Amino acid sequence: MPTPAWEVEPTGERRRLVHVNATAQGGGVAELLHGLVAYQQTAGVDVGWAVICGDEGFYAVTKLLHHLLHGNADPARLRPELLRTYRDRLASQIPWFTERLTRDDVVVLHDPQTLGLAPAVRATGARVVWHCHVGADVPRDRGPGAVWHAFEAELSAVDAVVTTLPEFAPPSVPAAGRFVAAPAIDPSAPKNRHLEPPEVAALLDRAGLTADRTASDVRVVQRALLPAGARVVLQVSRWDPLKDMPGVVRSVVGLPPDVHLVLAGTDPTEIPDDPEGLAVLADVEETLAGLTPADRARVHLVNVSMRNPLGNALLVNALQRRADVVVQKSLEEGFGLTVTEAMVKGRAVVASAVGGLRQQVTHERNGLLVDPADLAGVRAALTRLLDDPALRRRLGEQARSDALERYTMARLVEDYGVIAGSAEG
Ligand code: UDP
Repeated sequence: MPTPAWEVEPTGERRRLVHVNATAQGGGVAELLHGLVAYQQTAGVDVGWAVICGDEGFYAVTKLLHHLLHGNADPARLRPELLRTYRDRLASQIPWFTERLTRDDVVVLHDPQTLGLAPAVRATGARVVWHCHVGADVPRDRGPGAVWHAFEAELSAVDAVVTTLPEFAPPSVPAAGRFVAAPAIDPSAPKNRHLEPPEVAALLDRAGLTADRTASDVRVVQRALLPAGARVVLQVSRWDPLKDMPGVVRSVVGLPPDVHLVLAGTDPTEIPDDPEGLAVLADVEETLAGLTPADRARVHLVNVSMRNPLGNALLVNALQRRADVVVQKSLEEGFGLTVTEAMVKGRAVVASAVGGLRQQVTHERNGLLVDPADLAGVRAALTRLLDDPALRRRLGEQARSDALERYTMARLVEDYGVIAGSAEG
């Protein structure tokens, strides 16, 4: 079994803040940590970032925990042997942490993948924060309650819990230990920095969307190139069932023939804690197979390799800038950085009214909120925006100014200052 590894090693000269998560690339938490760690360093925090490791059995359990917290799995599936697998895989990694942590550290465990480390980290004398980016507007007995119950011991070893919305916090954590932190992005990062139109065009050409492809780090599945004059609807997501990529395809069918859909997601074979990616992609392809050839020709699937993080960031940036409307039709969403990224680029957004998305988007102010179960409603919102450039501009400008004001890394660094300070008691 491989051991955890430092993505960023703290200097150890001052009181340290150590983030721990499951992947260095892929998904919102990795994206967030790249920006946050750099900003915390600039702010003078002695910050580290360690990434745990796992295997197929471990990730099958963590994916189930993820679905349970989203109310998207039967709580009876969380069987004792699965919890044993989860705890066993983490147990072998505990020495790596106990050899490196001291009582002066504040350790931030991100998401359910790392929560199991809480008692061992606590035993070193370090303070423990659990930042759970997952959450859903579902009754507790639909899934979250089973996780809270199974992880009672771990949760009691935690000094503070951070969630995107207050109602996502486990009820057993005392109110004084609960914190809320909204998403944050780095507007100057390659994912978000300004791109001139020729740069956007070159990136789309390089990816093979608009020209015969040359890049080896992008796989594009399409029947025809994306025409220059097409109106583009975009969803960027991991290939996770809760992102409902097939539902996005169904929502776009029936829109006028110049409307094209781009679905972009990381290469599903590359994200170890996302074992369902290939099945979701197969689902999308099956949905496409049911369309008319003309409709199929208007859908472009882009699989971006995380082996080239800079190329991935720039391509996502270019796609978001090329899009007329960015949609995020998630069935549940704890966080939703893809929407923050679209907002900061002044895009008009159609987002499901769930979790972290309803936290960011105010209907008719900086985007449109929809019920993801209502395909006709999603289609109507897309049509409304596609047909009204002035509305797109108004909502997009407000989105950009709201994102720059509310979702900054500087704000998250401050949030963390308060959270870490409180955990230190
Ligand atoms: N992302 C990416 N390339 C892709 C798909 C997603 O870089 O092909 C990034 C996306 O830009 C965002 C993050 O992955 O920064 C997804 O974060 P979000 O909070 O939206 O969802 P999560 O994946 O954490 O559920």
